[in-house]
Amino acid sequence: MWNSLRVKFGLSYLSIIAAVLVLLNTYPLVVSEDMVFRSKVTTMQNSVSVMVYSLSGLDELNEENVAAAMAVVEETGLSRILVTDSDGKALYDTRETGSAVGNYVLYSEIVQALRGSDAASCVYRNGAFRSRASSPVLYQNQIIGAVYAYEYDVEQAALLEGLQSNLKRISLVVGAGALLLSLLLSMALTEKISRLMTAIRQVREGAYGHRAQIRGGDEIAQIGDAFNSLADRLQTTEDARRRFVSDASHELKTPLAAIRLLSDSILQTENMDQETTREFVTDIGREAERLSRITEDLLQLTKLDSGIIPPAAVVDVLPVLEQVMRMMSLMAQENGVELTFSAQDGCRVKATRDEVYQVISNLTDNALKYSAGGPVQISLRKLHGQVALSVADRGPGIPEADLPRIFERFYRVEKARSRAAGGTGLGLSIVSDMVRRRGGTVEASNRSGGGAVFTVRWPAAEGGEEL
Ligand code: ADP
Repeated sequence: MWNSLRVKFGLSYLSIIAAVLVLLNTYPLVVSEDMVFRSKVTTMQNSVSVMVYSLSGLDELNEENVAAAMAVVEETGLSRILVTDSDGKALYDTRETGSAVGNYVLYSEIVQALRGSDAASCVYRNGAFRSRASSPVLYQNQIIGAVYAYEYDVEQAALLEGLQSNLKRISLVVGAGALLLSLLLSMALTEKISRLMTAIRQVREGAYGHRAQIRGGDEIAQIGDAFNSLADRLQTTEDARRRFVSDASHELKTPLAAIRLLSDSILQTENMDQETTREFVTDIGREAERLSRITEDLLQLTKLDSGIIPPAAVVDVLPVLEQVMRMMSLMAQENGVELTFSAQDGCRVKATRDEVYQVISNLTDNALKYSAGGPVQISLRKLHGQVALSVADRGPGIPEADLPRIFERFYRVEKARSRAAGGTGLGLSIVSDMVRRRGGTVEASNRSGGGAVFTVRWPAAEGGEEL
């Protein structure tokens, strides 16, 4: 539970809010209480000084002269004023009921004043400020009495209490608001995270089509978008993998089924004549050859997919093209196809010799296979920093609708014709992978007047001079 983001957010919000509220409820009160204390002490001391001043000049204090002197003192608003003689006996008391006149009043402030020093204090208790102050009355440096003043103030206390209860109310409203807001915020946040987690879990369990639905443009929504595009790629890769596996098994199944059928026929037909047997065995051999071609192509594609790219060297394309021409001339003759090429010198690319050989021979092989007896022309040029190789035939060409797909694995325009011609449906995708991983491009188009043309463009390797 403590690991949950919602709990962590909630707790941190709560502690911040609590700290702010505690501060709000204590600091202003402490400060204002302190200000009241200070001002009270000062006013009390001033009032006492005024009274001491009016008593100064008397050589001794008695009830009459004190009463006469105090009569001229202005109304002070104090709750009680006491004047004692030097023994602490009260000579004057403003309190009407329970007057202390004639009695000894030994309040600590009075005792302190009779010892010669001033005293002042203020306390806040039971909803009232209680302030006390006292001073000695001197005559020729002799203490002849003391003045004591007491104030009981509920007005300022009420103001302070009002402030306190207002602060409490404000805190309550602010606290509740902040709590609600933090709850909403943390819920919104964790809701987004849990949506993301659900999407991750679903995709991890194989539901590659599931996407995270997160609204807004915050960081979590951005993570959601990034996750969705990752899932898109995963889905594409997974779809391609599934299609590839199913296509590959289908391709392997067809020749295997033919081999089985042919061998069963040989076994089950009694006294099969030698010629038929030979024909069947030849067919078995052809199918086996097809199987090995498919597996070879598959192995090549697996290597290309592994992402391990063999180190490139500068390859001069012309000698490789000449070698392919030598290898293919027999096949061209057999098919009655006129195979010609024109080439510029100095066409160098960064690749491996095997790759260049494979690319040229796959394209030439296709052109011979599908040219339907028409001529096949190959040209090799260096143009605008690129080496361009084009293989053109006068066959049926490729239907426009199929053009964008012919580089896909196992894609064939006409399955039967391709199979009859010994095709695996992998040749062009091998070409495309090999060219693209060296930074090149390959495209197919139809020629005006009939036939197809395949053009490969590699970036020209440095060092080859342009011709
Ligand atoms: P295949 O082994 O079947 O030739 P490829 O990948 O080499 O497989 O080619 C894919 C498909 O593209 C072929 O089946 C064929 O339909 C079409 N194709 C390739 N080259 C040509 C061409 N020169 N003329 C017409 N169609 C072609």
